[in-house]
Amino acid sequence: MSGPLLTVENLTKHYPLDAGFLTKPSSVVRAVEAVSFSVNAGETLCIVGESGCGKSTVARLLMRLVDPTGGRVLIDGTDIAGLRKHELRAWRRRMQMVFQDPYSSLNPRLTAGQIITEPVENFERLTRKQHNALAADLLQKVGMAPEMMHRLPSELSGGQRQRLGIARALALKPALVILDEAVSALDVSVQAQILNLLLDLQQQMGIAFVFISHDLGVVEHIGHRVAVMYLGRIVELAPCEALFAKPVHPYTEALIAAAPVPDPTRVRLEAPVEGEVPSPINPPTGCAFHPRCPLAIERCRVEVPPLVQIAHGRAAACHVRAPASDVVAQTINASLRERLASFAPNEETKA
Ligand code: SF4
Repeated sequence: MSGPLLTVENLTKHYPLDAGFLTKPSSVVRAVEAVSFSVNAGETLCIVGESGCGKSTVARLLMRLVDPTGGRVLIDGTDIAGLRKHELRAWRRRMQMVFQDPYSSLNPRLTAGQIITEPVENFERLTRKQHNALAADLLQKVGMAPEMMHRLPSELSGGQRQRLGIARALALKPALVILDEAVSALDVSVQAQILNLLLDLQQQMGIAFVFISHDLGVVEHIGHRVAVMYLGRIVELAPCEALFAKPVHPYTEALIAAAPVPDPTRVRLEAPVEGEVPSPINPPTGCAFHPRCPLAIERCRVEVPPLVQIAHGRAAACHVRAPASDVVAQTINASLRERLASFAPNEETKA
């Protein structure tokens, strides 16, 4: 099938707050604000940002674990954001999720074999022979011995539990797996094993990943493209190599500068920006990054910068580094515009 596997258009999630001592009755948490991107089959799109930037809410919205306030989530062209529960069931086969905490996301009373086959048995009845064959096959795929199917999660190490979570996600042969901080709780050596396992599985099975992480080292290792989020919005979207070689948005620059550099030959960028991420209940006007941005100009305080394309496959939202009237943005050819439309919010780009 042509076109992206996953297309997200203007996805928005607001959580209304009850009136309290410090909150007005009309207060809302703007967790995700007009987020747009696409993911192709067999591709890894990483979503990065500090805690509270909305990246995990995006993961939950993609899986319809929470309902969006607005926007669309298209899988193979079908908007799952608008489907009813019983209609959604069939689409769950196409998308699976792996959570951060392998222990709490696994049923402690089920054996590894039961955990792996449970998603399949939600759709079809398996004989004992089929059950064992499926469990053994998936355990082998994620580098575990088939005999481990009889163990409980409490009898497995942290890395084995996360492998088990991945095996469960693969049971329905999904086209897309969403990994929400899937390696953050693991030791560095186990992290590397799991990342290499994911890369191997992607090559063998052509699965697309949406990989959510705050760890830029991990993202650089696994990503094809990266979306950087700040306070609910995507502020930069670029191929992984280009983003790390030359970040455009001041916030991306700051994130990369703040990340530990294991390579002594790599030159560190300037010192990271200071200050806390503002509250999504009362975000700053204009560009939400302006209170922390060393490049802020007057326009930044009043006008939200649109996400505009600045080069082939790259987009950024910054009045200074990626002005909407940028020559590149104006002269970009029509076919490229169409290609980029899947991740650049049209309404804002036209603004
Ligand atoms: Fe900084 Fe202004 Fe760009 Fe926002 S729009 S990142 S405040 S320069």
